[in-house]
Amino acid sequence: MTTSVPPSRPSREEAEEAVRVLLSWAGEDPQREGLLDTPSRVVRSYDEFFEGYQINPEELLARTFSEVEDYDEIVLLRDIRIESHCEHHMVPIIGRAHVAYLPRRRVVGISKLARVVDAYSRRFQIQERLTAQIANTINSVLEPYGTAVIIEAGHQCMTTRGVHRPGVSMVTSRMLGVFRENSDTRRELLSMLNRPALGDQFT
Ligand SMILES: [Zn+2]
Repeated sequence: MTTSVPPSRPSREEAEEAVRVLLSWAGEDPQREGLLDTPSRVVRSYDEFFEGYQINPEELLARTFSEVEDYDEIVLLRDIRIESHCEHHMVPIIGRAHVAYLPRRRVVGISKLARVVDAYSRRFQIQERLTAQIANTINSVLEPYGTAVIIEAGHQCMTTRGVHRPGVSMVTSRMLGVFRENSDTRRELLSMLNRPALGDQFT
């Protein structure tokens, strides 16, 4: 499931040179004073944007809490910010994810769920695969009764170029286990999602 890192990674200098080529291609002079440090800044930004390749999402979920005999209700983490990049145009996908599961024996710290979202977002992605990877990982590691992931995002390849449709968002979902099989459970999840946000009441 984890996308593998290409075996022969170019050097930082080679990556910076590639940025100079793209600057020239856009019509710029990479030697212009304002652009001299740009290649190194871009490459450092890539370290952040794509740090997901260095993270094993399954390991993030490895530590679980098992004392959940009394808890048999949906756990929902909603409005997790998504910052990803479209693999077709290498431009940002910005949105939010809602992640839910119905624990069987194990629960996991909620920050871990958000970090699984980050680990897959900070790669080149298409939204459909991102949604499925998050759901499949949680489902296979925690083995809950069910897992649901819903992502709503804007794609800059659609808003700032091509058809230029700002304000359009794409919604994808992956429902596994009881969320797929049991319409009552799915309805309960959707009603939890439709409740008004608490805003900063609890922050
Ligand atoms: Zn795209």
